[in-house]
Amino acid sequence: MAKKGKAAAAAAPAQPEPPAPEAEAPPAAEPVPPVSMVYCKVCSYPPEYCEFGAHLTKCKEWLKETHPDLFDKYWSDEALQTKVGTLSLAAQAKLEKDMAKAEVKAEAKADAAMKKKMASQVIIKRIERNKRKQITSVFGLEAFDVDLKKAAKQFASKFATGASVTKNPQGLDEIVVSGDVSDEILEMIENEVGVLKGIPVDNVELVEEKRKKGGE
Ligand SMILES: [Zn+2]
Repeated sequence: MAKKGKAAAAAAPAQPEPPAPEAEAPPAAEPVPPVSMVYCKVCSYPPEYCEFGAHLTKCKEWLKETHPDLFDKYWSDEALQTKVGTLSLAAQAKLEKDMAKAEVKAEAKADAAMKKKMASQVIIKRIERNKRKQITSVFGLEAFDVDLKKAAKQFASKFATGASVTKNPQGLDEIVVSGDVSDEILEMIENEVGVLKGIPVDNVELVEEKRKKGGE
């Protein structure tokens, strides 16, 4: 083997031995450093996809603060130049304007939804129909993205009683459950049982509707 190699080397003209094989070997042996994926804390996309989310301005602020290198990579003047280099100036301006508009709209929408949610009240009402019959109505769950039919089903099976979605006198949906289960429902909301998730207990009010004196 050694002899053969030597002979081959000797046969080659005065050229020095190529260092290539030796030089290439060490890097290949080195372990590849783990690639740590970065996800945007604002929109949860990888930063290169932030522009498809609805919070680009906030995304960019976050990225600049936490990953200045990535920020430069995606949002430096050069990066943007490359990206929109093929668009005309007018098209660029329009694109930016459209994006800003969409963003403002989305932010406003998210804001309004949050405000509505925070202001929304879930009202659990204990209603005394007569001495022997009480019902419990639950109003406002849909503001917290609770499926009313599913919630009614959950109450029915939990309390082994009747529960249904009906329209209240104001024409709005509410869940009516047979029997006085108001305390139990409040507890279920506190414990986020089943579909009753994400309802701040501060937004839940327990009220009582007594039979009017002299009525019935
Ligand atoms: Zn983002």
